[in-house]
Amino acid sequence: MTIVMKFGGTSLADGERIKAAAALAADASRKEGVAVVVSAMGGTTDTLLGVIGKATRMKDREIDAFVAGVRKMHEEAVAVAVSKKRDRIMEAMAMRSDELAEAITNIRDTGLTTHFRDRVASFGEKFSSAIVSGAISDHTESDWHHGDSGLIVVDENFISPEADMETTQEEISKKIVPQMKKGIVPVITGYMGCTHDGQTTTLGRGSSDLIASIVGACIDAREVQIWTDVDGLLTADPKVVPGARLIPRMSFAEASELAYFGAKVLHPKTILPAMNSNIPIRILNTLNPGSRGTEIVSDRERAPGIVKAITSKKGINMLNIVSAKMLASHGFLARVFDVFGRHGISIDMISTTEVSVSLTIDSRINGRLEPVMKELSGIASVNLLSGKALVCVVGDGMRMVSGTAGRVFSCLGKGGINVECISQGASEINISLVVDEKDCDGAVRALHHEFFPEAE
Ligand code: ADP
Ligand code: ASP
Ligand code: MG
Repeated sequence: MTIVMKFGGTSLADGERIKAAAALAADASRKEGVAVVVSAMGGTTDTLLGVIGKATRMKDREIDAFVAGVRKMHEEAVAVAVSKKRDRIMEAMAMRSDELAEAITNIRDTGLTTHFRDRVASFGEKFSSAIVSGAISDHTESDWHHGDSGLIVVDENFISPEADMETTQEEISKKIVPQMKKGIVPVITGYMGCTHDGQTTTLGRGSSDLIASIVGACIDAREVQIWTDVDGLLTADPKVVPGARLIPRMSFAEASELAYFGAKVLHPKTILPAMNSNIPIRILNTLNPGSRGTEIVSDRERAPGIVKAITSKKGINMLNIVSAKMLASHGFLARVFDVFGRHGISIDMISTTEVSVSLTIDSRINGRLEPVMKELSGIASVNLLSGKALVCVVGDGMRMVSGTAGRVFSCLGKGGINVECISQGASEINISLVVDEKDCDGAVRALHHEFFPEAE
């Protein structure tokens, strides 16, 4: 039997936390084969993405100072977390630092390309994987691997890369499985893969969860464990609703909706590889390792309270597309979606009437929205509203119970919260609403109180 243990940035915040995570992995490896997947140490990816934006204007000494800061932070963690192999891991820190300086200098000298951007962004995981592996080596044998060294192979779509599961499985069978069979704990970088011709690609913010699921599918793991800083998937983000309750068990479909509509604890694409191989995902807390966490499994289970959780996503744009031609005309929506498809922009929520279609898009793709707006203006009148949020009520039980939408509306109405748009997914397990960003947290709290009154 084997498991994958993924440790997020919150679980690798400093040397002490890394030491604790490594002890958990080493402990588990006494009972079964363990492959570890790691994020960057908390905050590192933000720091790296920040430098990419100004790299073209940086002087040599500024690049050196930046890299020295990154190196110092990681070396401090090594000093705390690694004993036996400290010299070797310090050497790795020095090598990664030189490579990082070279990658930033490349952007400065030749301009910013997607490939160079992804290469710089991937360094957080390259530093952390060596440290976590070094820390595990204090207990049992371990090694580390970079996903972009031909291990996690993805297609050439840099905007939204998809894993080539067949090639990745072959590589994992060659490089990872034999180590696990010998009792070695391999530590694999999250976040990155490489194209067939070896170019580094990152798979999106928070995508180390997805890499864990890909690795789990490739080694046919008994379970994929996502270790983070909360007890599991909760009825709402505890940062918004402090009394949010743990959901002990949920279906892949529900977890997918929750993750897609804002439950940051799980990257939305994580579900698919595990689900295709019928591998349960368990979310666990490194700060409270005794808790059973949330188990995500294939069987659909009706939640006692109909609704399982309330999620939210800020930074949303709402696009209203109005055309009289839409009335009784065929193919209008197809033309609209074709424009989005060609520009590689995904739509979160759609609501249509006889003459209009409203849809929401993540505002982080703003730069790519302009050409889309231009094309759409050719076929309809288009109005963009920014500063919106998407609030989502998710639960398998809603399929069987009518009146949930009514409860949602009256509860928000009582709270004086204006709902600009509403949509119920075809799966009938979610109701999504668009509200003003300033009303978002209030809406989540009001809905949580409505559906989980006993939790607060
Ligand atoms: P990691 O660094 O481990 O990947 P993340 O920050 O990506 O951790 O995800 C954990 C965070 O997700 C929690 O601290 C919590 O604030 C947030 N979160 C949002 N919605 C939920 C939810 N429904 N249940 C649990 N956590 C949630
Ligand atoms: N380090 C990456 C990020 O911060 C990936 C991850 O943590 O999953 O987005
Ligand atoms: Mg995460």
